[in-house]
Amino acid sequence: LSSSVRWKRVLLKVSGKSLMGDHTQNVDPEIIALIAREVATVSRLGIEVAIVVGGGNFFQGSAWVSSGTLDRASADHIGMMATVMNSIFLQASLENAGVQTRVQTAYKLAEIAEPYIRRRAIRHLEKGRVVIFAAGIGNPYFTTDTAAALRAAEINAEVVLKATNFDGIFDSDPKLNAEAILQEHISYRDAAAKGSAMIDITAITLCQENAIPVVVFNLNEPGNISKAVSGERIGTLIDQ
Ligand code: UDP
Repeated sequence: LSSSVRWKRVLLKVSGKSLMGDHTQNVDPEIIALIAREVATVSRLGIEVAIVVGGGNFFQGSAWVSSGTLDRASADHIGMMATVMNSIFLQASLENAGVQTRVQTAYKLAEIAEPYIRRRAIRHLEKGRVVIFAAGIGNPYFTTDTAAALRAAEINAEVVLKATNFDGIFDSDPKLNAEAILQEHISYRDAAAKGSAMIDITAITLCQENAIPVVVFNLNEPGNISKAVSGERIGTLIDQ
């Protein structure tokens, strides 16, 4: 492992929305190929990469719930299936890029993927395979950010790298305020106080309890995944 690399085992969280790129729905083939190439590069450097992917590109449950069309648990079950679709897509893209990959689902989909087995996931990582954790934690009322934090703690990942469409966390909303300043570092407590717009509060709490730092960064800049993995200052670092 090269000395320029900071982390040995990382948990990469890719939001569903960031897979959309400029498209209005589903998956932008260029973005998913970019992710696959970058993950392939860091994996070849010997870094163990586990991935949790969201589902917002396929299904936005909250809109259906607030309109009264769906109850929360049903919407969340559909949302979890959306993460499975993204996981299979990402697996195929990674294997195209020459990386051995396993998908493990939080509930059984035995014909499609392995069930989540912690020790087995760790074994795959040790063998240099990328492991994608699909279906969140398998329960409604949770998010894939929380799944990322939980799996990171379970597999002893040293960091959660949260890939988004934003450069990081700003002092105010950059969509509303052109002068918003990117914060290079904030504490868990300040991240939680910002509310769930940037990162889920349950996820932040789990990371804090387990002293796992989180880096929020922009996926759309080529090279950013490698930078985040090598510990270059990029995006926002959340820790103590
Ligand atoms: N979800 C869930 N339990 C989990 C993880 C996810 O019920 O453990 C559902 C929830 O409805 C969530 C959706 O799956 O909204 C997709 O995940 P998320 O919204 O976190 O994806 P992202 O915003 O990253 O695209």
